[in-house]
Amino acid sequence: MYHKSDVVVVGAGGAGLMAALELAGKADVAVLSKVYPTRSHTGTAQGGVCAALGNMEEDHWEWHSFDTVKGGDYLCDQDAVDVLCQTAIDNIYHLEHLGLPFNRTPDGLIAQRFFGGHTKDYGKAPVHRACYAADRTGHMILQTLYQNCIRQNVRFYDEYHLLDLIINDGVCQGVVALELRTGEIHTFHAPAVLFATGGYGRVYKITSNALTYTGDGVAIAIRHGVPIEDPEFFQFHPTGIYKMGILVTEGARGEGGVLRNRTGERFMERYAPTLLDLAPRDMISRDIYLEVREGRGIDGKDYVHLDLTQLDPAVVHEKLPDITDFVETYLGIDPTKQMIPVQPTAHYAMGGIPTDVDGRVVVDEKNTPLPGFYAAGECACVSVHGANRLGTNSLLDITVFGQRSARHILRFLKEGQHLPLPPEADGPARAEVSRVLSSTGEEKVAVLRAELQQCMDDNAGVMRDAEKLRTARSKLVELRERFTHIGIQDRGLTYNTDLTEALETGNLLDIAETIVLGALNREESRGGHYREDFPKRDDAHFLKHTLIKRVDGKLSLGYKPVVITRFQPKERTY
Ligand SMILES: Cc1cc2nc3c(=O)[nH]c(=O)nc-3n(C[C@H](O)[C@H](O)[C@H](O)COP(=O)(O)OP(=O)(O)OC[C@H]3O[C@@H](n4cnc5c(N)ncnc54)[C@H](O)[C@@H]3O)c2cc1C
Repeated sequence: MYHKSDVVVVGAGGAGLMAALELAGKADVAVLSKVYPTRSHTGTAQGGVCAALGNMEEDHWEWHSFDTVKGGDYLCDQDAVDVLCQTAIDNIYHLEHLGLPFNRTPDGLIAQRFFGGHTKDYGKAPVHRACYAADRTGHMILQTLYQNCIRQNVRFYDEYHLLDLIINDGVCQGVVALELRTGEIHTFHAPAVLFATGGYGRVYKITSNALTYTGDGVAIAIRHGVPIEDPEFFQFHPTGIYKMGILVTEGARGEGGVLRNRTGERFMERYAPTLLDLAPRDMISRDIYLEVREGRGIDGKDYVHLDLTQLDPAVVHEKLPDITDFVETYLGIDPTKQMIPVQPTAHYAMGGIPTDVDGRVVVDEKNTPLPGFYAAGECACVSVHGANRLGTNSLLDITVFGQRSARHILRFLKEGQHLPLPPEADGPARAEVSRVLSSTGEEKVAVLRAELQQCMDDNAGVMRDAEKLRTARSKLVELRERFTHIGIQDRGLTYNTDLTEALETGNLLDIAETIVLGALNREESRGGHYREDFPKRDDAHFLKHTLIKRVDGKLSLGYKPVVITRFQPKERTY
């Protein structure tokens, strides 16, 4: 079926909905999502969204910028970081006015709490900067934005799975998607397309990410010759529930929780004497790994304890109710009385589709835009998070850059127009779907996916070295070959999850290859990328962004300079 609109937004999480709301009433917009909008991953975000409101103590957006750049190990583009931190303040009030039920101070202001890496006066001490709605901030953002979109009559295509991007003569002209309910393939013709398709943490086995986090948008962009920026930087969050990866928010430490090893020692005192348990995530994840390796994991195993038992139980119940529920449900323990077993869990993709500060996708080191193609949210790389994102900066990123992309699209629409579609614009997508639907090979998609995730956990996780990464590279070659021999069982058209899981696994494979190539090439340690064989940061050779492109089926590596304005790279201590 054929549809025509001014804009197609793919993704109905925080970034997509924020953009849709900004466009509503000003342009004809269609929003596609492979899950019902309120099931998007934004809804699982717990801890908070930050802005230097200064409601609890003095704070300034310039301090927030500094923390973000230092937290990102100086790989952030500082012009973009300034946009993020400056806009943050208006953005939080915008969300408040849309009806978001933030927690309040006794005076009725938006309450704020501590979060890792956020400090006052350029690193002197932790600062209250994270605005929150208990420990379900993302849920509240998603519900608030969705309800406002419904009020504005935004047109949603729920449970439509993006299959392809239409680019004709270097100009974006729409997308092709599969309607999951019927198996029908639809063409959406529009001069402006915004990808807001979220992250790709399902490339790993132990992860906090939703099952839907398979990087579809990023992989499809790569197939069209758009580079992926900085894929080697993947964040591991220190406190996933042991063996399950389910997240225990950093807000738990923001409220006073501490990490302990098998001897009961608060080991962060040794690693980060100023910020302690509120040091950035990349550091704490590595420190947990070191504790475990030196035999100080609990019972000699690969986890440590998160201790909330010294907190006032009323604070735990009031400010961390969902966490309390999770650990009771999954572990059968009461966090006010027993410690929670935790280990690092794959959490956030710092890399993604390169964009400028207006969400325009840029395809080379000179930042040349691809007309009509935009990206925002976790699938994009602006880059405000550099080599390591600070907690609460992503919910901020999706709202700030979702909105900015929409504003630029409105300007672009004054000249951007519907051009004729290429003949058979949906041809490649149809061919791919029928290839999978008729596949009868002996390889099972679920097995390939599990092997991929195990391989990435073992070889491209918190600690990396050349040998591990080469092992991963060979395994990926093998998996890619085996993927051409898959066979699926369901040949139906209604909610065919065999089909979509095969497509998603193909996307994960594409992205895994870029993570491993980027990591092998980057012979230094910076932020979320740690090489045991190159343990130091090497600004002389690697203070630059990676750009990986697919050219004639092969990956090629390039670079782009980092924008440095006020903050010169320094050694990171906390
Ligand atoms: C457990 C957890 C807790 C977190 N807590 C915090 C926090 O407290 N603070 C913070 O700042 N950040 C947090 N984060 C990170 C943050 O929540 C995410 O980075 C952010 O919400 C991503 O928003 P998004 O709009 O980019 O993507 P999402 O909200 O994931 O939305 C992606 C959308 O794309 C759609 N989509 C994807 N693929 C396709 C396809 N093929 N076809 C059609 N549609 C598609 C999906 O249906 C979905 O609607 C957390 C993340 C996790 C996993």
